[in-house]
Amino acid sequence: MILPPHLTVRGGHLQIGDHDTVDLAERFGTPLYVTDETRIRENFRRLSSALTGYYPEVRVLYAAKANGNLAILRVLASMGAGADVFSAGEVTLALAAGMSPESLLFNGSSKSPSDLALAVEKGVRVSVDSLDELRELDRAAGEAGTTVDIAFRINPEITVPTHPKIATGLATSKFGIPAGEILDAYRHALAAEHINPVGIHCHIGSQILDVEPFAREVDVLIGVASDLIDIGVDLSFIDIGGGLGIPYRRGIDQAPTPEDYAGAVMPVFLAGIRDLGIAPELWVEPGRWLVADSTILLTRVSSVKAAHKTFANVDAGFNLLARPVMYDSYHEVVAANRADAPPEREYSIAGPICETGDILAEDRLLPYIAAGDILAVLDAGAYGFAMSSQYNSRPRCAEVLLSGENAGLMRRAETIDDLTATMVVPPWQA
Ligand SMILES: *Cc1c(COP(=O)(O)O)cnc(C)c1O
Repeated sequence: MILPPHLTVRGGHLQIGDHDTVDLAERFGTPLYVTDETRIRENFRRLSSALTGYYPEVRVLYAAKANGNLAILRVLASMGAGADVFSAGEVTLALAAGMSPESLLFNGSSKSPSDLALAVEKGVRVSVDSLDELRELDRAAGEAGTTVDIAFRINPEITVPTHPKIATGLATSKFGIPAGEILDAYRHALAAEHINPVGIHCHIGSQILDVEPFAREVDVLIGVASDLIDIGVDLSFIDIGGGLGIPYRRGIDQAPTPEDYAGAVMPVFLAGIRDLGIAPELWVEPGRWLVADSTILLTRVSSVKAAHKTFANVDAGFNLLARPVMYDSYHEVVAANRADAPPEREYSIAGPICETGDILAEDRLLPYIAAGDILAVLDAGAYGFAMSSQYNSRPRCAEVLLSGENAGLMRRAETIDDLTATMVVPPWQA
């Protein structure tokens, strides 16, 4: 396994940034999510400059669902990022983090009337996903006496090599308006009194390890832009979504770099807009690529059991990291307090949840592991804590943010009282 540069080994312990992971586990307890802010800043700078090297008018909208902690949103806001937001909660948190309403795009295939009213009230642009939604948004904007800028999300009907649950641009996907109906949708928008169609939006899927589908996507969008110009739409942005994957199997997965991504996408985009004689902003919506590798999940071994396999039973399960169970995802595991010991034996890392499937990692060659050891699950910053639950009545763990020498909580651990805080005694039980 090849560790990324912010993870090192010192004195036999795994370090993240300037911090000893074993010390962090002692100080804050386990399980514990730990995020290196510096790594997020490096990732943002790298992705952003790869794109702006080709074209200055690029806007990076961080996909807030990947990791919605306010502290993370503040870091990205301070770098100049906007956000792709998918719910009233994400709109509110992004604004609270200091992002401007104009730097947000409200996405989603099933926004409620109150979601749309919030977008109108806050002045947030909307990526509209159906004609029903367009009508409701027009009504809400009319009621508020204002006009809303929108894009439509188009379904480009292209196949993408990734897990089927995270391919979003397939013809069968629930997202977007089919390419064949998109012009009609824009005609409706042009005719609507309180709607101003200014953009086009697409997102083909997540954890994509090949840049070619992104180039095809941009090609489709340029074709649509051409038709839109013909019907009188004045395009101020083209949003190509997110989806750039990362090498979870470190040293094995071949993942494109941001430079590869920009090299595939930007020439198609630039040639396209030049031919059309337009100069819209290019919007991108990376989530995973910005935050995944910034974060590790520290978990303590409760027991080791030799059964048909050797299980290392740990205190974090799919309640805290759902990806392995949900998407068959692979995450590297490091024995944090024996990080320079030689690998000796295969372990399956099993969580505390009452489900056979609660395995974080299968058949990993690790040093001898004993109860009390600390394991680090790598690349847990995207869709990690964000997808956590209280299943089995387990309070969620804390999240710590590191910035240089600083280490502080960005979310405290939940307690048993937090579990019951929203529960109500029905009157007849009182
Ligand atoms: C989830 C999502 C993203 C981010 O995807 P990543 O794979 O994390 O980059 C971007 N845009 C939309 C619309 C999304 O749903």
